[in-house]
Amino acid sequence: MAEAADPGAPHPRPRDATLSPRFAQVPTFMRLPRVEDPRRLDVAIVGVPFDGGVSNRPGARFGPREVRSESALCRPYNPEVGINPFDHLRVADAGDVDTNPISIEDTYERVEAHFEELLQADCVPIAIGGDHSIAYPILRAMARKHGPVNLVHFDSHSDLWDEYFGSRFAHGTMFRRALEDGILRSGGVLQVGIRGQLFDAGDERFGTEHGVETVRIAEALELGPDGLSARWQRLAGAPVYVSIDIDVVDPAFAPGTGTPAVGGFASREILALVRRLRELPLVGADVVEVSPPYDVAGVTSYLAANLVYELVCQLALRARGREG
Ligand code: MN
Ligand code: MN
Repeated sequence: MAEAADPGAPHPRPRDATLSPRFAQVPTFMRLPRVEDPRRLDVAIVGVPFDGGVSNRPGARFGPREVRSESALCRPYNPEVGINPFDHLRVADAGDVDTNPISIEDTYERVEAHFEELLQADCVPIAIGGDHSIAYPILRAMARKHGPVNLVHFDSHSDLWDEYFGSRFAHGTMFRRALEDGILRSGGVLQVGIRGQLFDAGDERFGTEHGVETVRIAEALELGPDGLSARWQRLAGAPVYVSIDIDVVDPAFAPGTGTPAVGGFASREILALVRRLRELPLVGADVVEVSPPYDVAGVTSYLAANLVYELVCQLALRARGREG
């Protein structure tokens, strides 16, 4: 019998790599048990394998599988923030949403319904994309549960386009849709790491006119983790969703993505930022746009796995605080 990651345990644990080698067994996230029933979980890791919203290079549909595979390298204890998150939270791999590769509209319905079910169970979902378009139906589910939410958005792109090839749904339009729908709080959007060329100066108009706070990459590097966490502190009064587009990281560190932009964060810089999210009342998060066909030696998937793990640690630090 294989060393079991017991799905019935009250506190699920990753498989013990001293008993079951990291390259063995079916690769769930960090080789945690797979638990379908969200009522048994505090945090659900959910794959959303969809790349039908991509404007250029596809492949993010394979993101969840590769991130899970590389996540076998992650160990449970985090010395940087001093916590084993699995001591404080019930975390498991909740599997994937069955998306529709032919229809973004149908995929949106499926994703929204799936996340609604997780949220009904008072579970904090962390999604592994998938292209960034999946954030829209997740945010719809969030708003139904919590009302309009605040957003901390790490990306090289603002994703506030109106449409692409006549479609209002794509991986560059979803935050505009969410603002129009009122599922994001007015004045509650902070974008970090924005950079790169635009089609024209008007591309930035919507964000400026709708109170989106943008911290471009140069300013973000100047502010550092202290300065940036002071910026997002103002969002702490309402539920906060965190969306991490992996292309916020420099393509030298994260080449496996569909729309790379040079001059981004180093891996250590994005890790340091994620480690400062604990002050925020997080109700969900995603790590999106990992495109394994463009990756090299799994480095992008490995980084994404670490970001998911660090998000879990931030949630665990808050939970530990509540334990007193
Ligand atoms: Mn992007
Ligand atoms: Mn994006």
